[in-house]
Order: sequence, then C-alpha cells, then structure tokens
Amino acid sequence: MAIGAAFVLVVNTGMTGIQLAGMKLGSVIGASSDPNFVPAGAPLGQIGSDPDDPSDPWSAAAPPGGVIVQTPGPSAGPNATGTLRIPVPKNIPTGPRRVAIQAGHWKSDEAPDELRRLIPQTGAEWEGVTEVEINLDIAQRVGVILNSKGIAVDILPTTIPVGYIADAFVALHADSDGAGSNSGFKMAHGARRGPYEDALLNDIKNAFGTATGLDYDATHISNGMRGYYPFSWSRFQHAVAAHTPAVILEMGYVSNDDDRALMLDKPDLLAAAIASGVMKFLDETPRSKIFGQDLVVPAFPSRPSRPTASP
Ligand SMILES: [Zn+2]
Repeated sequence: MAIGAAFVLVVNTGMTGIQLAGMKLGSVIGASSDPNFVPAGAPLGQIGSDPDDPSDPWSAAAPPGGVIVQTPGPSAGPNATGTLRIPVPKNIPTGPRRVAIQAGHWKSDEAPDELRRLIPQTGAEWEGVTEVEINLDIAQRVGVILNSKGIAVDILPTTIPVGYIADAFVALHADSDGAGSNSGFKMAHGARRGPYEDALLNDIKNAFGTATGLDYDATHISNGMRGYYPFSWSRFQHAVAAHTPAVILEMGYVSNDDDRALMLDKPDLLAAAIASGVMKFLDETPRSKIFGQDLVVPAFPSRPSRPTASP
C-alpha cells in the first residue's frame, strides 16, 4: 500500500500540540522557586531501568516542565526512595479536545539522536504485509472519525514532540509471533504517569474487543509494551508528558491469517472501535481533571554516589 504525505494532511490540523495560551505563570513560578526543583533535562540523581532490559539503566532526567524531587523524611525508613512531583504543565491545551494517534514505526528513520536505537526498528512484516502500513492506515481513519466529532488530532510518527501534551495519546501497532499461531489484541500503559490511563485503556479495550470479536491476549503483554519509549519521560525528552493519558494498542497479529485479514479488510471497523473508546474516555474525563493537579509518583532508586578518592 502506498503511503503518501497527502493522507496526513487530512487529519493533521497543522496546529502544534503545544499551545501557550493556557500558560499559568503563577504555578510555574511556584514550582521553579522550590529549592528541590530540577529543570528540564537535568539529572535527578536517580537511576531508571527498562523493565524489558534491566541491564540497560539510564540516568533519570527531569521532563520538559521540570520536576520537584521530594526526599523521604527521617521517619520513612532506610529503604524509602521518596517521590517526584511533576507540576501541572504550563502549556495545557486550550480549545477543542486534542488526541494523538501514533502510527507505530512510521518514519522511524527520522528519529532524533536520543531515539536513534529506534531507526532500524521498522516493525513486523508477514507475507509482504508490513505492520507500519496497517498502523498508519488505521491511525488516519481514526483521525478522520475524531475530526468529524470536533476533536483536534495529531497523527504522530515515531518521533514524539518534546513533552507532548494532549487529552489522550494512543499508539497503534500490530504484532508478529514469527509463527502464525498467536491471535488477539493487547494493551498496556506505562508507570509513574497520571491516574487516568487505566480508564483510557479499558474504554478502548472494551470497544475494540466488542467490535472485532478478537480475544484479549493478556498473556503476551510484554515489558516492552509497558516500557514503550513515549511513556518514558525520565529517559527521553521526546516523550508524552506524564499528565497526558497514554496507552499502546497492539491491534492484532500480522502473522496470523485471521487477524491480518481483519486489519486489512475491515480497517473502518477497527478505526470506529478505537475512536468510540477514545470518545467515551474524553466524555467521562474532562480536561480539568486530567490537568487538575501536580502528579506525585514514586522516585527512582538513587544513583550510587561515587566513592571519594582516599587522601
Ligand atoms: Zn510495532
């Protein structure tokens, strides 16, 4: 299937996901004047670890809005790691509700330096059908439906805008087991994020499962899905802001004959299901709730301090 830029213009409104009109200077000054405020990109003195690859830890850094490191009090015990307070974003979207649909692996060759390991990750392929063509096709169809309901939509490629802020973010993928036996769809969200991701996940899961008849393949939800890079604000600046409810949906197995036929032959059915799940979430979760307060999440383990040189 040809993938043309012209498709993108249908749903990409040309507006950026980051708007300055809603800036709240008061709270920004309040947060950044805190002595424990760590500005964007600066190290937190803590170590994050990829659940999919614990041998590849990173030095956790503050997301684009900065973060307040709250160390545990003396009564908290020796193993307490404290918390991180993520201030309400200063650039909350205004106007229509805003939703990102990411087409997994799309334009992976354009990933920025911090995401360069994604460049060769071009997605699953089976019998000449590529995952990315399915992801992009359905993402655009979801975008058209949401647009028709007054939602501003960003169809995102591999590269997430720095600190991306919206009312919801849904990444679309299709999996392969390399054998053709697995069937079904899977979903996950990240950790150390806002409190509405279970609701977004369940609304899409219920709508998608009902419409497609696919089984929910809970046994193959991977740490790679839970640790999906757009969720990892402490590792990448090109990530979805912690306040933005974000989920990943593996729509089916491109390696399974029935799943693949469904994704190729009934893309409108899948798109309508995803859009209805998103709309249910938006209807039940006002923007004032999503961006209503600072997030307080568990801190990462402290980075061990280097031993000082003996005199
Ligand atoms: Zn994928």
